[in-house]
Amino acid sequence: MPTKTLPEKSEITVIGGGIVGVTIAHELAKRGEEVTVIEKRFIGSGSTFRCGTGIRQQFNDEANVQVMKRSVELWKRYSEEYGFPFEQTGYLFLLYDDEEVEEFKKNIAIQNKFGVPTRLITPEEAKEIVPLLDISEVVAASWNPTDGKADPFHSTAKFALHAEEFGAKLVEYTEVKDFIVENGEIKGLKTSRGTIKTGIVINATNAWAKLVNAMAGIRTKIPIEPYKHQAVITQPIKKGAVKPMVISFRYGHAYLTQTAHGGVVGGVGYEEGPTYDLNPTYEFMRQVSYYFTKIIPALRELLILRTWAGYYAKTPDSNPAIGKIEELSDYYIAAGFSGHGFMMAPAVAEMVADLITKGKTDLPVEWYDPYRFERGELRGQALQMG
Ligand SMILES: Cc1cc2nc3c(=O)[nH]c(=O)nc-3n(C[C@H](O)[C@H](O)[C@H](O)COP(=O)(O)OP(=O)(O)OC[C@H]3O[C@@H](n4cnc5c(N)ncnc54)[C@H](O)[C@@H]3O)c2cc1C
Repeated sequence: MPTKTLPEKSEITVIGGGIVGVTIAHELAKRGEEVTVIEKRFIGSGSTFRCGTGIRQQFNDEANVQVMKRSVELWKRYSEEYGFPFEQTGYLFLLYDDEEVEEFKKNIAIQNKFGVPTRLITPEEAKEIVPLLDISEVVAASWNPTDGKADPFHSTAKFALHAEEFGAKLVEYTEVKDFIVENGEIKGLKTSRGTIKTGIVINATNAWAKLVNAMAGIRTKIPIEPYKHQAVITQPIKKGAVKPMVISFRYGHAYLTQTAHGGVVGGVGYEEGPTYDLNPTYEFMRQVSYYFTKIIPALRELLILRTWAGYYAKTPDSNPAIGKIEELSDYYIAAGFSGHGFMMAPAVAEMVADLITKGKTDLPVEWYDPYRFERGELRGQALQMG
């Protein structure tokens, strides 16, 4: 169980106890570093527990493909070692016209270059994978059987427990309120439950990252804004009915799959913001019902049990900001995951831990350079689902 009291001091402090903060602390503690996570509510209470479970390597640029390939290796390794479910049931992107097919052929070539075994399949093959699909308008599909899904509650809790076993301290219900800085050096953090002396800080607060940057006095422009995204869960149906994550950009940027309990979970691209509001809306219910039943008509028979909302912490190019902020020693950021931070977390943890312990990493972290916004060097828009 997470530590109740705030330690007096810690070499490294991670602000934010979502999947990203927890996996960073896990990786650092495993390497023998002294690390504390400070979380204002409980572990996983931010976007992490509201997410759609999806883990994919199907991106449209080299950096994200490489990083996600590594992340999937780590998801596989840790799910086996720590005993949480990570199912490689694949991701199936349904394609409806030549333009989409051409775009996905390019993506598949990039993925194949790094050993991600995605291939273009026929509508009939797609229907073999998900027999309930309506393929009357589908012309092809992009299929990678090694993509998958993991339970966000279960996996975050397991990473947290093992981080503690390696000596990390996880402090809940404690909010970071301010930085103590002397001559450009971090000396400590002021929290709602006292002060902690620390020299190295990682901002892993995602939707709240700009508030923490402001507290730290960071002037570099790192635009991360919270957007409301919603999700739905239906009553359970026969297990195995929708094994992969099914995506349809044509129908509302919809994504859907089946949870271990049997319900169909997913969402659409409908977005509101920037906002910190999290009330589910009727408009989302209307859209999700319309689009989901276009993809799988049988879903018409199902009851919706619940809808909820969470944040996508978005940047202008839908890629996170990961790296060291030079204005302040030693301040790092890993935030702005734009709707795909759950899947990235294990590889992000490795990159951040490498930067802190070795000053460099073999993974292409430059792609996520926090200074790219200020320099006007936006990346190609990362493939965002939902
Ligand atoms: C509907 C929906 C579906 C999604 N589907 C997917 C998906 O299928 N796959 C995927 O990869 N991603 C998905 N995402 C995105 C994913 O949820 C996020 O990218 C990921 O959870 C980000 O993790 P995090 O640890 O960075 O942030 P969070 O989980 O938000 O953690 C940040 C934490 O910081 C804490 N905090 C903030 N300020 C302070 C402070 N001052 N002091 C202390 N603590 C503080 C917060 O309480 C919070 O717990 C989805 C998101 C939504 C909303």
